[in-house]
Amino acid sequence: MKVKLSGHVGSFVSSSPRRRARFDEGGPASIDLAQFANPPAVRRSRRHPINRFGRQAQVNRSLVMETQGLDDLIGLLAAQGYRVLGAREGDGALELGPITAAADLPRGRVEDAEAGRVRLVEGPRDAFFDHTLPMQGLKRVVYPAQERLYSTGSDLAAEEAPVEVPPTAVIGVRPCDLAALDTLTTVFEGGPFVDTRFRQRREALLLVAVNCMRPAATCFCASMDTGPRAERGYDLVLDELIEEGRHVFLVTAGSARGREILERLPGAPAGEADLRAARAGSQACAEAQQREMAGGVEALLKRSYDHPHWVAVAERCLSCANCTLVCPTCFCGTVEDRSSLDGAEAERWRRWDSCFTLDFSYLHGGAVRKETASRYRQWITHKLAHWHDQFGSSGCVGCGRCIGWCPVGIDITAEAAALADASPPVAELLGKDS
Ligand code: SF4
Ligand code: SF4
Repeated sequence: MKVKLSGHVGSFVSSSPRRRARFDEGGPASIDLAQFANPPAVRRSRRHPINRFGRQAQVNRSLVMETQGLDDLIGLLAAQGYRVLGAREGDGALELGPITAAADLPRGRVEDAEAGRVRLVEGPRDAFFDHTLPMQGLKRVVYPAQERLYSTGSDLAAEEAPVEVPPTAVIGVRPCDLAALDTLTTVFEGGPFVDTRFRQRREALLLVAVNCMRPAATCFCASMDTGPRAERGYDLVLDELIEEGRHVFLVTAGSARGREILERLPGAPAGEADLRAARAGSQACAEAQQREMAGGVEALLKRSYDHPHWVAVAERCLSCANCTLVCPTCFCGTVEDRSSLDGAEAERWRRWDSCFTLDFSYLHGGAVRKETASRYRQWITHKLAHWHDQFGSSGCVGCGRCIGWCPVGIDITAEAAALADASPPVAELLGKDS
């Protein structure tokens, strides 16, 4: 049985540890960061759920912290009972895993990413966060690849599987992945039926974001309005500032809980120059992005149902589903019932599924989308066009994962551009003079 999950928004309960008044006792002056958070070129207009970040501009405070403060932050979070996750190097790529110290982060490493290729190489400077994204984003944390939902015995009484929700702090979340979490929240909680398993896991998160200072070659968040500067959705956000003889973090709180942590971190008041440097870094990152999404892509895809380009893509696409598995917003799942051979026990599991599999579109009598061309068309058209109708935003946040991790290098931005180049003008389609 296939299930389409849909969804809305919950509220967060702050874990309210004791406060230390380092910040207020002659600490940093209160600086309104709203002017720095939204530089015109990277302003985000996506719909955001109403959550604990709803009044972010009112709690923004910032300080400048030496790099050793990262260990203080990680230690503080661990002492408060969080399992701390961050990007770690493994098998030549970045994965999201447990970290206990800043030394666990891939310092100095960056992605050499292109269509069909992602590998880690030495970067040009000694930065903690010049890399961009782990292979998978927050999706796996809030929506496991597979989980048991129910079990039953011979009495047929169904027992719901408990949700394990350890308080989890994630360090280094990028703006595009914050946007992806927003998108998933709309999907799983925005409709009449709320996925409570997703919501419990989301509410257990504490997010320490990082504003990007360097894009991978596959990034195109600036054209999707999701980065490279985080507007909201974080508890704390870091800007890594490396200037002549100086390597520090600008740390800004984005929630009441983030501010409680900020108040306990070592640091000095942030100055206007620090804020300007952070904003300039984001601006430079946006301008350095090599890819962008074609303009008007929603309308383009909606009028391209019968376009011959789908056949050309299908000649390369392996229908392997990699793109949907690494995508931080792809949410489709299927439900399986598994029973013991003697019939004494049965379990219901949910696992990720993909619109690239043949049986995903199975209806009575067979699959609806038998050809790879129709499956690729379904994926990209839902992602970039019909998602707007369904959830009020694009389903793509411009992270570029599907480009790098596609084994044959199919590039969502290139396919959209090719479609735009090969499409007759709208006026022609309407039978008017162009
Ligand atoms: S576009 Fe690439 S990653 Fe996606 S199914 Fe086709 S071959 Fe696999
Ligand atoms: S479609 Fe590709 S670029 Fe867009 S969010 Fe998914 S993985 Fe990232």
